[in-house]
Amino acid sequence: MTNPLLSDWTTPYGLPPFDAITDDDYPPAVDAALAEARANIAAIADSPEPPTFANTIEAMERAEGTLNRVLGAFYNVAGADSNARREALQRDFAPLLSAYGSEITENKALFARVEAVWQGRDDLDLTDEQARVLMLTRRGFVRSGAQLQGAEAARLREVKSRLSVLGTEFTQNLLADERDWFLPLAEDDLEGLPDFVIATARAAGEEKEAGGPVVTLSRSLIVPFLQFSARRDLRQKAYQAWGARGANGGKTDNRAIAAEILKLRQERASLLGYNSFADYKLETEMAGTPQAVRDLLMQVWEPAKAAAESDARALERMLHAEGFDGPLEPWDWRYYAEKRRKDLHDLDEAELKPYLQLDRMIEAAFACANRLFGLEFTPADGPVYHPDVRLWEVTRKGEHIALFIGDYFARGSKRSGAWCSAMRSQHRLDAEVRPLVVNVCNFAKPEKGKPALLSYDDARTLFHEFGHALHQMLSDVTYESISGTSVARDFVELPSQLFEHWLEVPQVLSEFATHAETGEPMPSALLDKVLGAATYDMGFQTVEYVASALVDLGFHDGPAPADPMQRQEEILQEIGMPRAIRMRHATPHFAHVFAGDGYSSGYYSYMWSEVMDADAFAAFDEAGDPFDPATAKRLEETVLSSGGSVDAADLYTQFRGRLPGVEALLKGRGLDKAA
Ligand SMILES: [Zn+2]
Repeated sequence: MTNPLLSDWTTPYGLPPFDAITDDDYPPAVDAALAEARANIAAIADSPEPPTFANTIEAMERAEGTLNRVLGAFYNVAGADSNARREALQRDFAPLLSAYGSEITENKALFARVEAVWQGRDDLDLTDEQARVLMLTRRGFVRSGAQLQGAEAARLREVKSRLSVLGTEFTQNLLADERDWFLPLAEDDLEGLPDFVIATARAAGEEKEAGGPVVTLSRSLIVPFLQFSARRDLRQKAYQAWGARGANGGKTDNRAIAAEILKLRQERASLLGYNSFADYKLETEMAGTPQAVRDLLMQVWEPAKAAAESDARALERMLHAEGFDGPLEPWDWRYYAEKRRKDLHDLDEAELKPYLQLDRMIEAAFACANRLFGLEFTPADGPVYHPDVRLWEVTRKGEHIALFIGDYFARGSKRSGAWCSAMRSQHRLDAEVRPLVVNVCNFAKPEKGKPALLSYDDARTLFHEFGHALHQMLSDVTYESISGTSVARDFVELPSQLFEHWLEVPQVLSEFATHAETGEPMPSALLDKVLGAATYDMGFQTVEYVASALVDLGFHDGPAPADPMQRQEEILQEIGMPRAIRMRHATPHFAHVFAGDGYSSGYYSYMWSEVMDADAFAAFDEAGDPFDPATAKRLEETVLSSGGSVDAADLYTQFRGRLPGVEALLKGRGLDKAA
């Protein structure tokens, strides 16, 4: 029998034939697809023809067609509907795929052909998109060390492999520190804690076999404990343990590891010809340079610090009113901020929930996409990997645009969080290929016959992932490697975070946020509360985040510090860190930066994206209509359809007429009126 993953898919919309695929089909399909990709790559590298754009770059774009198809199906089910077998297969496939990836970047004959095309590019009459794909392909090789020879190439391999060992140790130490510490709570230690925190503390106590409730260092327990515990002594104890993760001395201490990681990253950057690791990392990003990142962060830092200092004075007065002397401490902030929040915006989630029905919120997202981009969504049939999965065909003026796949409910077989992926990406190298786009969420499944209800955060998540889906669905490029969301890391969250803004458009909520039983629209007083609560305590949140981002940048933007802890203190001194706020992630537990390369010199990118989405939505405000057709058309023609075919900063400038400014973000976070 033929393997259904490898046969032609004659299913509706070319979906993977999930009804015919069994888990036993994946390993032979991955083996066959890898063998095919290797043969394709070898044929390119060993070709007797002189290298051309078509026989080298375009041929590479085609080389992994089968592999992409098989892995698109596999990783979709491995994330959204896993089982022990699929988990084992993920572990089996990871080293195979990583070995294949290294083989390509280390293939000297292949790189020689890419380099020859690159050197001759001026005479090739390439389109802008082709020139961009060529540049990106060559840059990928160069950045992984393809130009290095002999001892330097060997040293780069050593550095990379040591960095991967250190990243794993850093993570494991952190997990050990988080696992080992807990604080038992006697009955009168529970003062001030709401029922849900007590229940979480009891469950944690059972898990630790502590014979009663405990506080652990898990974020979902310690943060509410710090918010609600009336016991200042216990808050201090718990907070200090939380802050000491990775810095407790002994076997699990991460400080020496952090220093070694920074030193090796600098060496890696200089082997590859960069001045600093930040220069290396930011080359592929929209920000481009460390200076651009620092400029942006500092523009946000000063108003955020002013807002936080003004909030600190209000919280300190509350502390003194309760009979404590001395300054507000870091373990006091969340407690008094929570009390103040209750006074200022008492938002009851239970009151809000009946207004946020999943099906109505899906309709709202579709309606926004219709008003903005003319897209229409019709329920469709086809093979699915789980009965909860829903399909919609997306069309515009009768023309097929994409298949949209919604998988909304939580289940044990789904990993946590929410994401958007494409089982097939848009491209048209040989024929027009339209995408299969998936949104996966973890919303609570209702009892049979009851409507599914969302929290406001859930509704925001739905809009967020749908924004990523639009980026995939509206993609209009020739080459798959730059399709849809294949863009710089600090640009990829723009479409998703931007789309969240339409949830806050009053006419959208008043039309689609209707009560599950009465059908009444959400009262405007409730709507105002929702929107008001969203900007509360933003001074604190911005300060703890930006401080971490500045320390991350300071670590990588120049010679590696011999003592990262000392360097961290210097940076915090320089920026004038408020005393009652600490970094969101201090160095010994800053996993974003040290557990792997992903967010090193990249922690800023969350803020970068927020600056952009606020600034981009302001374009609709300026046009006087959240659905202004001309602005929507420009958004599609620049940001949403171009994928990575144009540099992100150029795309943004085409949309907005200039680069993003921070004003709209400061206004959105309520930081523009800081004292
Ligand atoms: Zn996202």
